[in-house]
Amino acid sequence: MKLAVPLILIFSPFFLSQAHADVNYRIDLTQPQHHLAKVEVAFPRSDVKQLTVNLPVWRTGKYQVLPLGDAVRHFRAEDESGKVLEWQRSASGEWQVKLTQPTKVKVSYQLYANSLGQRVSHVDGSHAYLDASGVFVYSPDFRDQPVTVSLKVSDAWRSYSGMASEDTHLFIADNYDVLVDSPIETGVSQHRAFSADGRDYELVVWGEGNYDLDKMVEDLTRLSGQAKAIWDGYPFERYVYMVHATSGASGATEHLNSSVIQRPRFSFRERKDYLGFIKTASHEFIHTWNVKAYRPKGLVPYDYQQEGITELLWIAEGSTSYFQSQLLLRAGVITPKEFLDDLARRITRNEQTPGREVQSVAEASAG
Ligand SMILES: [Zn+2]
Repeated sequence: MKLAVPLILIFSPFFLSQAHADVNYRIDLTQPQHHLAKVEVAFPRSDVKQLTVNLPVWRTGKYQVLPLGDAVRHFRAEDESGKVLEWQRSASGEWQVKLTQPTKVKVSYQLYANSLGQRVSHVDGSHAYLDASGVFVYSPDFRDQPVTVSLKVSDAWRSYSGMASEDTHLFIADNYDVLVDSPIETGVSQHRAFSADGRDYELVVWGEGNYDLDKMVEDLTRLSGQAKAIWDGYPFERYVYMVHATSGASGATEHLNSSVIQRPRFSFRERKDYLGFIKTASHEFIHTWNVKAYRPKGLVPYDYQQEGITELLWIAEGSTSYFQSQLLLRAGVITPKEFLDDLARRITRNEQTPGREVQSVAEASAG
């Protein structure tokens, strides 16, 4: 079929804006000492009277309301000619920008990023960890549009994410939902690439600590290669394990094709500490299938402005915890004795929890 688009349309500004309807994010991290970043978001042309701009009130993997919007300061909006647009904050994490005519809209703000333990946003002189839910606003009108994320950082920094990368410090994603589930780690870090069963993996470790990078790569390779023992296929081509060796923060979160694991920096070397690390890595990796690829119906499509309610976390979390040691045993990363000790500990903990007599697993896991 011949293209019937008149040339005049192709070269009209409107057509160009539609053809390049990406949402472009830029974040300036060149003055990180005070945990501050500058964010700019360029939305495509819009002809609505009020453009709604949101920052989620929760992040993926933690379905509880968090005061993420409080990190935004000096919010500003302007049209495509640079004219300042009026706006008002209409709810937690919601701004209404008033448009007087069809225009592209650029919003900008300063971000205070100092919540390492929440695994939302943390900026300091050595790195930045950016989970888009607490960093990048979206407009419901453009939530499905492709996005680009450009980072301005010190020359010594390197940037990593589960998102595809077009250039150094430039990531792309199909839409905001992918961006919000693909955190970025940028800064000075240790980095290793490896492959297992035809898939590419990366390990990025921020922070000094008593870890053994070679041992981590060896075991993560064995662990990752065992996925085929449980699942038929992979929901990713590339997967990134991000690790933060911290001064106290600990915890972990699964994402679309990446995970972040935080442990105190000297909690890697002793066998019991190392088992804690590798079990967490296994757990978050399994979530790639179990919660991300297959998830409780009540959770999707995500409503970023309200708490996600489901009573099925017991199956999502319980079965993930069940598989985590299975996978490590199959991979030869833990011994049969370590597997059975772990199982015994779990059974004992359950037997010693009186709440199991009065509360169903569905109630206990509602979140
Ligand atoms: Zn979990």
